[in-house]
Amino acid sequence: DLLVVGSANADLVIGVERRPAAGETVLGSDLVVHPGGKGANQAVAAARLGARTALLARVGDDAYGRLLLESQRAAGVDTAGVLVGGAPTGVALITVDPSGDNSIVVSPGANARLSPEDVRAAAALLASARVVSLQLEIPLDTVATVAEVVRTARGGADTGEGRGEGTGDGTGEGGPRVVLNPSPPAPLPAEVLAVCDPLVVNEHEARFLLGDDPAGREEAPEAWAAALLARGPRSVVVTLGAAGALVADRDRTALVPSLPVKAVDTTGAGDAFTGALAWRLGLGEDLETAVRFAVRVGAAAVTRDGAQESFPTAEEVAAL
Ligand code: ADP
Repeated sequence: DLLVVGSANADLVIGVERRPAAGETVLGSDLVVHPGGKGANQAVAAARLGARTALLARVGDDAYGRLLLESQRAAGVDTAGVLVGGAPTGVALITVDPSGDNSIVVSPGANARLSPEDVRAAAALLASARVVSLQLEIPLDTVATVAEVVRTARGGADTGEGRGEGTGDGTGEGGPRVVLNPSPPAPLPAEVLAVCDPLVVNEHEARFLLGDDPAGREEAPEAWAAALLARGPRSVVVTLGAAGALVADRDRTALVPSLPVKAVDTTGAGDAFTGALAWRLGLGEDLETAVRFAVRVGAAAVTRDGAQESFPTAEEVAAL
């Protein structure tokens, strides 16, 4: 029902007293390896909640690739669409100092080789999904090809008007609904923006996309959402950390508060939120109802350490 198209990375984490300067060597803690990448995170978040979830991604034919496949399968994600080979698995080399500040080097590896051809070859998988969830840790051409394949699945005439105003479930007219979290932020082509329903941004991503637009200099998320809506997505969700999320479409804007929780580690909260949101939209919930659920998932995720390890089950969300 949910297809996540995106990245899968191995996060290699070492604690250090301080970061090395050029030419210097420092000793660090034991290495810890976590499955990560925004695509893999979203898929695990949704599957752990009980969603029927598939991942379209690319990993290397190596130990980290096998680790990532294993963590997806353990969460219940269908990995038939995960392509193997072409480059080493993407990795993030992360050093964390005692104050919690980190320095990260990302090698996109196989993620950078997930190609438009790979997407076209998976057109049937795309067309059969209710919701397709995207991020930007894979090439923008590849993301744009997903948008193109989705438009074709809808009958080619999608300009945002063809899906029936007001139903918003994206399921009645032959093509999936598209959720996009533009992270890391990059300028988006109009054809990609036009299929987003919603575009999901945090404050940083909202301001980046707004660029020189004066709305981006305001402190009001309502202003960002309105200005982003004017770029073409059918709806916008702005995540606001502990404050929850703002939902906006052409008809209305609503603030959905998060739950008061003791935040331990916010890593992956946005991915948990978006994975949960995409799943609920696929069940046919309206955007605001789906966001009400997603903020609870995000809140649960920040109460535990790590990214995928911190994502809750449906029972844990209900117990919040
Ligand atoms: P990102 O991780 O992409 O920057 P946010 O920090 O906005 O995204 O977090 C995504 C969602 O997770 C929020 O909309 C909210 O629902 C939840 N969340 C994040 N931080 C907290 C927090 N401290 N308390 C409660 N909920 C939170």
